[in-house]
Amino acid sequence: MSRLIGAHMPTSGGLAKAVTKGKEIGCTAVQVFTSSPQQWKAKAITEDVRDAFLAARKESEIDALVSHDSYLVNLAAADTELRNKSIGALTSELERCHALQIPYVVSHMGAHTGAGEQNGLELLAKSAREVLANSPKSVSLAMETTAGQGTCLGYKLEHLAYVIEKNKGNSRLVVCIDTCHLFAAGYDLRTEQAYEETVQQIQKIIGLDRVRVIHANDSLRPFNSRKDRHAHIGQGEIGELAFRLLVNDQRLAHAPIIVETPDAETMHETNVGRLKSYLGSGDGKGRKRGKAARTG
Ligand SMILES: [Zn+2]
Ligand SMILES: [Zn+2]
Repeated sequence: MSRLIGAHMPTSGGLAKAVTKGKEIGCTAVQVFTSSPQQWKAKAITEDVRDAFLAARKESEIDALVSHDSYLVNLAAADTELRNKSIGALTSELERCHALQIPYVVSHMGAHTGAGEQNGLELLAKSAREVLANSPKSVSLAMETTAGQGTCLGYKLEHLAYVIEKNKGNSRLVVCIDTCHLFAAGYDLRTEQAYEETVQQIQKIIGLDRVRVIHANDSLRPFNSRKDRHAHIGQGEIGELAFRLLVNDQRLAHAPIIVETPDAETMHETNVGRLKSYLGSGDGKGRKRGKAARTG
């Protein structure tokens, strides 16, 4: 199986255009927002939009499609009104994805906003259960690891494991790992050994088969900074080696790799090309390449 590598594509020209444009810049996987990520109100997917999107997929032969939920959604909100609004919005997102035949919705884990991590996690697990119970079975919810800014949950792998466990291992509750977020949250990736230890932890705490989407972003901020700032591949604090190891890691080959790096219009092609250029060049077992161990 060839590795699926792509980008989060802008949808300013429409959903179908995001796929077509993705193909043009070399993507074999595409992530989109199916509605504006800054707004609660979402337009329903009309038949025309759906048909154009499905036609673009067929034409481009891009089959690995992922959606990212709205930034406003907070499934862990202590405020009941906000939590219910979030559950509703995310449920609608899964419905839109069902119409568009997108199998995964990446969702941030939410923030406890002062109510405490345990309270937040309990609410989150409950909210996820409601979303899954009331949405089409064809779509899975991929909880994303976070950098742990502010009161955001999901910066520890155990947080994701907790929500999965509270949902009795529901097979529609899966995981998206983000290299920038992992790194910012204290999971190192900069050396072969560090990369291996982090993958082992994901394996142990979550299981690699549950990882269905990978966000490949370098980090502008230092290790363990708990700050979420993406950098171009190989040009941030993580460095090139981690990405060479990642694209060649057969244990994670089932999960499409998506870049969410800055300057989509001008730089996505470069970042996707960079990841593709690493294929076959560093499986972690051969000679060392790129930047090796750094201190910090
Ligand atoms: Zn991400
Ligand atoms: Zn991020």
